[in-house]
Order: sequence, then C-alpha cells, then structure tokens
Amino acid sequence: MNKGSVLIVSGPSGSGKDTILKKVFEAMPEIKFSISSITRAMRPGEVEGEKYNFISREAFEEMLKRDMMLEHNEFVGNYYGTPRGPVDSVLENGGEIIIEVDVNGAANIRKKLSETVSIFIMPPSFEVLKNRLSGRGTDSAENVEKRMNEALCEIARADEYDYIVVNDELDKAVDDVITIIKNLRLKTERQKYLINEVLGKC
Ligand code: 5GP
Repeated sequence: MNKGSVLIVSGPSGSGKDTILKKVFEAMPEIKFSISSITRAMRPGEVEGEKYNFISREAFEEMLKRDMMLEHNEFVGNYYGTPRGPVDSVLENGGEIIIEVDVNGAANIRKKLSETVSIFIMPPSFEVLKNRLSGRGTDSAENVEKRMNEALCEIARADEYDYIVVNDELDKAVDDVITIIKNLRLKTERQKYLINEVLGKC
C-alpha cells in the first residue's frame, strides 16, 4: 500500500487559487478535497457539500469535543474547521487530499501532521493583485483595500510553504501544481512498498 499525501493549498484572495484547483481536480479526479465544516449561513450560489458542510454551532462544538477537527478557527463569529476523518483516511489508505486553508490554518495543520506538502499560490505582482481585487467591481474601495492588506499579510508568510506557484498564466500554474503532485507520487517514501513487491521472496 502506498502512503498518502496531504497537500495544503493557500493563497490570498485574488491569487486565482479556486480556479487553479478546479482545473487540477478536473485533470486529476482521483484527488480528494477536504470539505470544511462551517457554521456561517449559506451564501447564494453555494452548494452544501461542495466546498463546505454547513452545520450548526452545537454540531460543530460536539465535533470539537470529540476531537474530530484537525484544526479550526473562529472567523467573524463563525466556526470554520477541517474534519479529521477524510485526512486520516488518506493517510491510512493512500492517495492525496487537498486542504484549502488560510496561512494560519496551514500553520496549525503543519504542527499536527508531519507529513504535509504545502503550496502557496502567488499573484505575479502587486499591480496584478490590485487589479484583480478591484476589477471584480462588486466591492467598495474600502473593502478592496481591506482585502489587499489581508493579501499582503498572507504573501509575507509565503516562505512557510514548500512550494510557491505563481499564477501569471492560468494553464502554466495548473501544470505546476500537477507537476508537484506527480513528483510526490514518485517519492521513495510513497513507493517503498514496491521494494518488497518486486523482491518478492528472494
Ligand atoms: P468565507 O466565509 O469567506 O468562505 O471564508 C472565510 C475564511 O475562512 C477564509 O479566510 C477561508 O480561507 C477560511 N476557511 C475556510 N475553511 C476553513 C477551515 O476549514 N479552517 C480554517 N481555519 N479556515 C477556513
């Protein structure tokens, strides 16, 4: 049995992380995605079980009590957490799971699991990030500035990650993430089982 890999992917708002991951999952449908459990209300367009499981505060606190969360955070009065079960299952049974989480969540997961690989999705420049954040046209200037500041704080911590993928050209960024995953699959520690398999009873 090969060993599983836990991939943490972070990147600021405007980095294009969601678009990249969508294409990676299309190309590699065997990879699992860690669905966060959260207590905030569902927004229009969101689908239960796609990115999030929407649960009650009581249910979340029960999960915490039973140590069922790998990590969690409280954000503007709502809980957000990564359930432990799907991650443990990949570690036991092989394959890969991608956990999309912010820089603090990533740091907490690294403290709990030694065997993670982390990728930071980086916008190509300050100007591009600013254009992407203001180009959405849905936010006030104040909100754009707030998100820009949050993005800069996250970028300042990109050196905590094993890999940085620059999202200048979407297809190239998607290829880079896929290359990292293919590389992981070739690592000796993921393929140690082959040694005994090939040697057999010699
Ligand atoms: P939103 O409510 O906008 O979907 O997400 C708010 C924040 O919660 C984002 O920064 C997002 O990255 C973070 N978040 C989403 N899922 C999780 C999770 O499972 N754990 C933690 N710690 N943060 C999460």
